[in-house]
Amino acid sequence: MASSTQKTGKIRIPCAYCQGKGRDRFGVMSPLSQCAACHGKGFQWIVPPVVRCAYCHGGGVSPTGTRSYCLACCGKGLQSRIDRTASCPDCHSTGSNPNTGMYCNRCHGAGVIRPVVDVPLPQRSQTIEAGDST
Ligand SMILES: [Zn+2]
Ligand SMILES: [Zn+2]
Ligand SMILES: [Zn+2]
Repeated sequence: MASSTQKTGKIRIPCAYCQGKGRDRFGVMSPLSQCAACHGKGFQWIVPPVVRCAYCHGGGVSPTGTRSYCLACCGKGLQSRIDRTASCPDCHSTGSNPNTGMYCNRCHGAGVIRPVVDVPLPQRSQTIEAGDST
């Protein structure tokens, strides 16, 4: 049978950069150029749950004005949100680094990070050294 079970758990989403068309959004080389983000397929794969890419506001377009796809989400407009439930304190959930204009390193442009759990570090149990013969 052709029914395929997705072992990776990824879901297929329309490519935000080309809006599912598979063509380059800006037609930089030619209006028929294939979308560099999805390689002309018109869709991309992502692992759910997802969050809107804060850096490009979900449009999949780089906000740096370079007429290329968003490097933070690779033009998906979405990012995987696994375990990332807290807002990023570095960029205040904007997803961009105000100093460089690039996406925020801490959250990779998603605007969300893993929550910082305020618990003491687990104490290391004493390591038993091998080869300690008597
Ligand atoms: Zn595309
Ligand atoms: Zn993005
Ligand atoms: Zn951030």
